[in-house]
Amino acid sequence: MSEPGPTGQTATAVDEIHILWTSEGMSCDGDTVSMTNATLPSIEDVVLGLVPGLPRVHLHNKVLAPEVGDEFMAPFHRAARGELGSFILVVEGSIPNEKINGDGYWTSMGNHPETGEPITVNEWIDRLAPQAWAVVAIGTCATYGGIHAMAGNPTGCMGLADYLGWEFRSAGGLPIVNVPGCPVQPDNFMETLTWLLYQAAGLAPTIPLDEQLRPTWLFGKTVHEGCDRAGYYEQGGFAYDYNSPKCQVKIGCWGPVVNCNVTKRGWMDGVGGCPNVGGICIACTMPGFPDKFMPFMDQPPGGTLSSTLTTGYGALVRRLRSITNRTANQEPKWHHNRAELTSGYQPRWPRR
Ligand code: SF4
Ligand code: SF4
Repeated sequence: MSEPGPTGQTATAVDEIHILWTSEGMSCDGDTVSMTNATLPSIEDVVLGLVPGLPRVHLHNKVLAPEVGDEFMAPFHRAARGELGSFILVVEGSIPNEKINGDGYWTSMGNHPETGEPITVNEWIDRLAPQAWAVVAIGTCATYGGIHAMAGNPTGCMGLADYLGWEFRSAGGLPIVNVPGCPVQPDNFMETLTWLLYQAAGLAPTIPLDEQLRPTWLFGKTVHEGCDRAGYYEQGGFAYDYNSPKCQVKIGCWGPVVNCNVTKRGWMDGVGGCPNVGGICIACTMPGFPDKFMPFMDQPPGGTLSSTLTTGYGALVRRLRSITNRTANQEPKWHHNRAELTSGYQPRWPRR
């Protein structure tokens, strides 16, 4: 069974696939750690073959691997030589510009077997990405550069699509798949990976991506649209410190303009979700993060106008709703159209 890719190319279904995962870019390994909290499905279920229909998966991730040194690096070298078979390349961490590294290098993974010299992450990406069935960037550093790419950084760091080009296509005919987040929301990544594995098996259509190469079903809504506090916003109820359950836009929340689903999905197994539990949204999933959203604790410029408009309208709506709420809290009058109780006992207290 096969599935046409976005370029019209036909990918062949696979029954066994490797996941070559490098977190050696500018990274804190936080996306790997976050991913281990996924439940829909868990990485353990995928690797142990407990999800029906998926190809057999071999995971190579340095944080989780029992192998070390040359033994861990062996599948990467085999893949570079075209000897590994089908694989998905997962890139974690932003990509430095090795053309401005002076006399050294910014970041590396393993050594050249012949020379013993370090192999830069950039060289690994150059070798592996064109051969990979799919290429996935995990976390905001790998997708759009993230914190390492902020103004003034000396490394020239960038996201994977800026490094390989936004028109890049993998051997499976796919664009880069971006799953941003700082760190990535665990189930967002595992759901994306599972879709790709089903697609590789010939059991799913081509993964739908938006213009920023994010899965559409995960990043199509804003934080605000799923926020537990959105009712306060609409009624002009705003927090002025972090001890309030009200909307946090005046203390720096960017939720109304940020594509992220954690207010709906939570962080781990449905629990949490930044503004739901008292954290302002600092837009960590966005291509403009962090520069466009700093300083983090200040009210977003657009928030001043929208919250001012909402304050007047919201006060009126809140007043009208409180009246309706009082009447909704009363039973209909025909529930009380009998002079006496219909129960068989005599109350010891005066009746209303
Ligand atoms: S806390 Fe943020 S996301 Fe939630 S309602 Fe307020 S502005 Fe929107
Ligand atoms: S709600 Fe905002 S800060 Fe929290 S994960 Fe989503 S984008 Fe990042």
